[in-house]
Amino acid sequence: MSHTGKVAIITGAGSGLGRATALKLAEKGALISVVDLVEQAGQETVQQIEAAGGKAIFVKADVSKADEVENYVKTTVEAFGRVDMFFNNAGISGPGLKLADHSIEQFDQIIDINLRSVLYGLKYVITEMLKTGGGSIVNTASTAGVVGVQSVAPYAATKHGVIGATRTAAIEYGKDNIRVNAIAPGTIETPMVVQFGKDNPEVFQATLDSIPSGRLGKPEEIANLVAFLLGDEAPYINGSVYSIDGGVTAQ
Ligand code: NAD
Repeated sequence: MSHTGKVAIITGAGSGLGRATALKLAEKGALISVVDLVEQAGQETVQQIEAAGGKAIFVKADVSKADEVENYVKTTVEAFGRVDMFFNNAGISGPGLKLADHSIEQFDQIIDINLRSVLYGLKYVITEMLKTGGGSIVNTASTAGVVGVQSVAPYAATKHGVIGATRTAAIEYGKDNIRVNAIAPGTIETPMVVQFGKDNPEVFQATLDSIPSGRLGKPEEIANLVAFLLGDEAPYINGSVYSIDGGVTAQ
């Protein structure tokens, strides 16, 4: 139980990668602050953690709003006393259009939810970790943060930005005992991806055909990597970007 007694904030923990990671960290003994925009989804994650014998709270927040980010950090500290681990993960995929076919509002929405949210989360969580002697952070980027990907230009722009924020935070706070890394998942079977596949069947089939491992990834496979990176077995991993994509970016 390597994460026993540690306090973890996980955004987007009502679904997909966030929920799988919340369950994994709780299983390893961490106290979980489940953050999500959708109350019912977040409460379900809390119930699943409690049913398995773990401890969690739900904090409703829109991660694109700075005051709500500040509040989820504050609420977590009020409940559990500190923040040791942070999975800065909530995000949306976008509509699946070529760059010039997006509206300005679509650009803004994706940037707000996928990039501003990550900077806000880093700001408020790092401020808290500095008070208690350090911690570890994983930001969720994407294959589209490492290479260009058809039909998701604003998404790719935000995920490249997440990697820039990760590397810079890592070098700024390494001496404060705060590690900051990013994961770059390929196509993982979550509600977000299932919906994207329904909305964009041709793009999705091409994506599937391009995966060397021949299948989608599973949320639990991401959770295993995040739990490792956040935990005490990775003390010298800082500022790194981990591809977990079935070989897609090896091509
Ligand atoms: P998901 O849709 O299953 O879960 C995302 C969760 O985030 C949902 O519970 C949703 O309610 C929440 N959320 C959305 N907007 C929010 C907001 N403004 N404030 C608070 N919560 C909000 O998606 P997922 O596949 O688990 O994606 C999680 C992260 O992983 C995202 O950043 C996504 O870009 C990234 N990612 C996913 C894949 C994949 O294939 N699934 C690949 C690469 C990266």
